[in-house]
Amino acid sequence: MLRLTNVAKTYHDHRRTTRAIAGIDLDVQPGEAVALIGPSGSGKSTLLQIAAGLAEPTHGTVERDGDVGLAFQQPLLYPWLTVRENIGIARRFAAHKSIDSGRVDDLLDEFGLTDLADAEPSSLSGGQAQRAALARALVTRPRALLLDEPFAALDPAARTALQDWMREWHRTHDLALVLVTHDVHEALLIADRAVLLLPGVPGIVAEWAVPDLDREQIAAHPLLAEIVAAFTTNVGRSVRSVA
Ligand code: ADP
Ligand code: MG
Repeated sequence: MLRLTNVAKTYHDHRRTTRAIAGIDLDVQPGEAVALIGPSGSGKSTLLQIAAGLAEPTHGTVERDGDVGLAFQQPLLYPWLTVRENIGIARRFAAHKSIDSGRVDDLLDEFGLTDLADAEPSSLSGGQAQRAALARALVTRPRALLLDEPFAALDPAARTALQDWMREWHRTHDLALVLVTHDVHEALLIADRAVLLLPGVPGIVAEWAVPDLDREQIAAHPLLAEIVAAFTTNVGRSVRSVA
């Protein structure tokens, strides 16, 4: 469970004040996948960092019911550690000493990385490295998984494979998933709900329930065009909300 209530974040640096987000209410239940969409500068990363506890909100409250796992556009693996050591890195910290090595083996297996357990990150493909980053994010058995454009840097084939994989994976795991993306197709493939942020517009601008669609259905579905249109709408234009 992850619940943000009336969350706002304003940055002050030098003489500039930037209101990154304001008036955000977002509730993500276990088993639910929410896509956070919006153009660059709409506050998606700020919202994710606040949800993760990496940044403090200027206003509002954040509730979580357990650990949070995080992954980003770049896998950020430690180059001097093996894949297995990277996935198990949390075990080196006192708070997670109780994670057993079997947990790491299970994740290596689940993410198709068993044969690469002793490899160095530099020898991995982009898709393999990102799978290792996702496994690392899950090692503490988090109750929420927060992903900031996790597939954006992958080549198209790896991106497609990992998107399909994430869709299936989340169906069998009962945690709250928040996926930041500016790819509306990806949002419709993976999420149950899509929420839109726009730069300079407070709050969640629009929200859509996402039906269960496969890739081909998404390409032809009116929801795709509707969300893309809302996404590219002029700032300030009111957007119809179909909750
Ligand atoms: P997104 O992820 O949707 O691109 P961000 O959350 O990164 O949006 O940024 C939202 C706004 O906040 C932007 O105007 C950005 O320039 C500003 N911003 C983000 N991080 C900082 C920071 N650390 N200091 C100052 N301004 C920031
Ligand atoms: Mg961002």
